Amino acid sequence: MGRELSSDYAEYVRRTALRLPTVGIDIGGTKIAAGVVDGEGRILEQLRTETPHKSKSPKVVEDVITELVLALADRHDVHAVGIGAAGFVDAQRARVLFAPHLSWRNEPLQEALSDRLGLPVIVENDANAAAWAEWRFGAGAGEEHLVMVNLGTGIGGAIVHGGRLERGRYGMAGEFGHMTVVPGGHRCPCGNRGCWEQYSSGNALVREARELAAAESPVAQPLLDRVEGDVASITGPLVTEAAQEGDPCAVELLQEIGQWLGLGLANLAAALDPGRFVIGGGVSAAGELLLRPAREAYRRNLTGRGFRPEAEIFEAELGNTAGLIGAADLARGRARRFRTVKRARVERAERVSRTGVGRRRTQWWTPLER
Ligand SMILES: [Zn+2]
Repeated sequence: MGRELSSDYAEYVRRTALRLPTVGIDIGGTKIAAGVVDGEGRILEQLRTETPHKSKSPKVVEDVITELVLALADRHDVHAVGIGAAGFVDAQRARVLFAPHLSWRNEPLQEALSDRLGLPVIVENDANAAAWAEWRFGAGAGEEHLVMVNLGTGIGGAIVHGGRLERGRYGMAGEFGHMTVVPGGHRCPCGNRGCWEQYSSGNALVREARELAAAESPVAQPLLDRVEGDVASITGPLVTEAAQEGDPCAVELLQEIGQWLGLGLANLAAALDPGRFVIGGGVSAAGELLLRPAREAYRRNLTGRGFRPEAEIFEAELGNTAGLIGAADLARGRARRFRTVKRARVERAERVSRTGVGRRRTQWWTPLER
């Protein structure tokens, strides 16, 4: 009898906790986006601002995040904050070890922000956050063994294993872009040669297109006409657009990126054996022009081909809001029902911390998972 009651209570808490609105923040190279996200993954309101320059101190970025959260909290109940950031986040989801676009080096972001806001805060790698969103609400729904691969300027990735994010021992899992696929191949900013992202990414697409155009190959003439002969103006979206309008050269360029994608996915399948791959990032806007050659190359390179079920390869559904939605949803797991962020309280606490007047010794909240 008692057990029944307590399990009813657990169910009650789970049901109610999952619906609390939380804020997700996506810190990109140029923009910071913040949104209030409900329990069904819908964005109720979204704000954007410029990312402070790399030379600014970590405190400046915290100020920007705090102001975005407070602005949203003026109009919504906000029970927790999730932050998705490019870079290395430690396995406790508390510190940003390294962020390429910011001055963060071993930055204790979770502690700093949860102290200021008086709310639970989690920090997550942006690719992990995006994969979580696709698994909960997008192209990964219903498949518990999922690998997400984002083709942006490079390749980001994440693993959902048994319905949980697999972060690895040190929080570094999913850096698929730097697996060597061509020993001695193209130089990569990571210091190695022949990394996967040098062959299958937005940067790779642009490099190949410009090389072809610069070689004055007649097949690249329609591409060159689009940029009035200015090779440096050729971009990934431009190649995708040309391919969608039937330019055979652009179709071929995407095909090549897709083939490299398929080869890398076959390698990932050998290691991880997922049921589904979800392909996101800017290049995935090419849709089937990219995915069809990827599926073919995947099948050709898959270990045990013909004797095993093959993972599906889907295009991501949530686009560039995935990171924000995923970060918010991950934070929801730590939300506390009766705690919301209030501007007046935060401002009072900041006055106290500056002047020392009225300092209290109690902590506002206790971390749920320690
Ligand atoms: Zn690399």
